[in-house]
Amino acid sequence: MIHKRVLLVGSTLGTATSGLLYLASYLRRSGIEAYCQLNDTNSNKALLKNNIERLLSRIDPSLVGVSIKWFPHLARGLEICKIIKELSPDTKIVLGGNTASYYWEKLIAYPDIDYIILGDGEEPLLNLCKTGSSLSNLVDTDSKNGNISYIENEKSTDVYLSHLNEIFVDDDDIKRCNNIFVYTGKRCSSNCFYCGGCATAMNMAFGSSRPFFRDTNIVRNDLNEVQAYTQKILFDFDFEPGNMLQVDYFDEIFSDQFKQLSAYFYFWKLPKPATIDFLAQKLSNITISIDLASLSESHRMSLQATPDLGVKPQPKDEEIIELFELVENHTNVTLDVNTILGLPMVTMQNLNENRDFVEKLSNYKSLGEIQWGRLHAQPGAPILERCEKYDMKLLARSFDDFLKFSRFNLDMDEYPDWRHLRYPYILYKDSKLFAATLMNYQEINDILNKRTLEKNHEALHT
Ligand code: SF4
Repeated sequence: MIHKRVLLVGSTLGTATSGLLYLASYLRRSGIEAYCQLNDTNSNKALLKNNIERLLSRIDPSLVGVSIKWFPHLARGLEICKIIKELSPDTKIVLGGNTASYYWEKLIAYPDIDYIILGDGEEPLLNLCKTGSSLSNLVDTDSKNGNISYIENEKSTDVYLSHLNEIFVDDDDIKRCNNIFVYTGKRCSSNCFYCGGCATAMNMAFGSSRPFFRDTNIVRNDLNEVQAYTQKILFDFDFEPGNMLQVDYFDEIFSDQFKQLSAYFYFWKLPKPATIDFLAQKLSNITISIDLASLSESHRMSLQATPDLGVKPQPKDEEIIELFELVENHTNVTLDVNTILGLPMVTMQNLNENRDFVEKLSNYKSLGEIQWGRLHAQPGAPILERCEKYDMKLLARSFDDFLKFSRFNLDMDEYPDWRHLRYPYILYKDSKLFAATLMNYQEINDILNKRTLEKNHEALHT
């Protein structure tokens, strides 16, 4: 064994990807003393350095894995590598995660980085620990090409959570999470133009975009593992898992033993009514986030009807309202709406419709939050090549541009939380449209703030 003691850390402030837990579990089952830090609360450079010093002296790893999954944390990930090498020059560093895989050719040139795992990490990381290399999914400083032949799929039943009582550097680490993400499947075959997790990007970074769903027995095993540590589970969900009905898939996972758990579901498409009824019975509380390309139905339909934008199927207002009507009957179900503002092809009429639709949804007591982000560039997102056509300008296209934006985050006195990260926006060239959308955000915020105030007032007087 070349690397017997391994430390895995994220590059994010706050909770890292739960992929670290799956990796550490996998290594432990093969006899490697793998540790991870899931929550990183070090919000400035001095704290970051002190913490890395503490982790290195506590674990004394010969290999540290640094996950750079999301590009806004690229500079922080590189800073972590630099600190590790300054403090412990002989410790090897391996990067992994979507952004690291996507930009491996740029990142392997950094003197602090010894290896990069491309795509799925379990088997190549184990090979690296056992032999110091891997025939697939691993590049080092001499590599000219990246070969990805280890691709997890529905048969990968050896990837699951275990050893949670042994893998954390700090005993209370996992308890600092409000929730834990348990994965039910991976990848997406759609190509929504704004998404860095689209099929095109996944093919480049992971060697495949074919979606798969995990065996329900191992998902249930993961739930058993985590329920000792958290009461709230996160799920990311496409609408139909392979050939099974969605509700049947859930039926195999959620037995009565999970009745005390609450769950947050990021549904990519509207869930079926039967699914909601089922989940409401099986879990103590659920929040379902529905993902809309726009709050305006006509805008959604025009985006969907434009083939080169590749937007996944969008629901009509009527279908969304039916869902809210159904959920009103369940006291333990909340519906959040996630959307993106500033997408191409918007009209002034669409902006009015945005506002009207939010007014309508505000009347439902089951509405939780309406969350949005502004359209921004992401590595591998198809819009990077198309924004000129839609009269929009990009603030980032290349590795160097994304790195620059991630440095803005790193160089702030206090590293921003996810709501305040700096992103490279994609902006309308038409200044009137840009101003009108800003005004629209403000109007929608005002509606939502008024609703929150009324709810608080009601709560105080009942
Ligand atoms: S936004 Fe579109 S491309 Fe991205 S994961 Fe969701 S469905 Fe797939």
